[in-house]
Amino acid sequence: MSNEMDRRTELAGTANDTALKARAIRECPNHERSFINRRDPAAVQTAEAAGRRLHKKQPTQYDLDELLAAIRFAIDGAPERCPLCPGESD
Ligand SMILES: [Zn+2]
Repeated sequence: MSNEMDRRTELAGTANDTALKARAIRECPNHERSFINRRDPAAVQTAEAAGRRLHKKQPTQYDLDELLAAIRFAIDGAPERCPLCPGESD
């Protein structure tokens, strides 16, 4: 059902926001919604800790493993440089 799709989309959005806030990924300054992996292990840990806190706050909304997997996917799935930017970034 589309309900499950909506839930998945929301989970991915939440995971992305969590990774962004933890500064594990950043948005390209030139391209909206293009996310770059900051390759910062401490930030990954911050993002995972934030995911655990979020799960504690809303245990019925997210399965912990599912949420943590989605956060890792948002980080690991992000490239190290924006694929839309020509040449070097920063
Ligand atoms: Zn870009």
